[in-house]
Amino acid sequence: MKSSTDGYADLHVHTTFSDGTFPPEEVVVRALQLNLKVIAITDHDCIEGIDYAVKAAEGTTLEIIPGVELSAAKDDTEIHILGYFIDREYGPLKELLEKIKLNRVQRMRNMVERLAEEGVNIDINKVLEHAEKGTVGRGHLAKLMVEAGEVKDFNDAFDKYIGDDKSCNVKHKRLDFEEAIDIIKKAGGVPVLAHPGTSGQDVNIEEYAKAGMLGVEVYHSNQGARCNKKYLELAKKFNMLVTGGSDCHGDKKGKVLLGTVLVSKDVVDILRKEAERVKSE
Ligand code: AMP
Ligand code: FE
Ligand code: FE
Ligand code: ZN
Repeated sequence: MKSSTDGYADLHVHTTFSDGTFPPEEVVVRALQLNLKVIAITDHDCIEGIDYAVKAAEGTTLEIIPGVELSAAKDDTEIHILGYFIDREYGPLKELLEKIKLNRVQRMRNMVERLAEEGVNIDINKVLEHAEKGTVGRGHLAKLMVEAGEVKDFNDAFDKYIGDDKSCNVKHKRLDFEEAIDIIKKAGGVPVLAHPGTSGQDVNIEEYAKAGMLGVEVYHSNQGARCNKKYLELAKKFNMLVTGGSDCHGDKKGKVLLGTVLVSKDVVDILRKEAERVKSE
């Protein structure tokens, strides 16, 4: 995805409103420095950072696509569903995300309590502060555990305490994937299966397509050329749109992914058209 897409669109970017390390304004400044033309702000279960990015990009050459990355469940597996061109004023979506946010706060309180029982003392208020106005997650907690000297690094926190099957993890309630697809469409957005390469979700693409998923994130920083080819074929087979993005989470160990996975203007145009079609349904 070089040359023709150079400097065009990165459709998967996080901010401090979820687990990214850059505030929306900084994402915009960096995108402009990289000469990107379009970015989609896709925070986990949160749309509150979008306005800040839109304001920061006003009067510049950068377009912000309002997006979201919903955590959803397929049986017991977590999948991520991107929603593009969503109406961020759509009441039911706002209410749903507010509910998810509150659930996550309670879940984090429970996790901090469990950690205390294991002798790991973390200040819940600090964890919540870390999450700013957005959704709080294990990433925020892990960072504080490192800072408090309770674990040696980020991964150690997951390996010892808060990984999926570890003693201090508390599962949070996830939306069913059908529900997630549905709410994105009701908000006028285009639902796209995020990074199918992680957790082997490619095997279920047909089922997702039948449930109304309209696209597949073929290009992603964790997906190599073989994945790209495979997902391109699957997208074609099930008549789904193709998207791509870096999944930049800010500065992670000195590495910034913003702009490292780009798609062309055509991809953005098709996505925009599809959103118009969804809105007219
Ligand atoms: P949450 O949504 O709060 O359950 O947190 C999920 C996030 O935690 C993921 O998006 C990852 O960034 C991170 N995570 C989950 N498991 C691990 C792991 N084993 N090692 C490192 N990070 C992880
Ligand atoms: Fe994330
Ligand atoms: Fe994701
Ligand atoms: Zn993401």
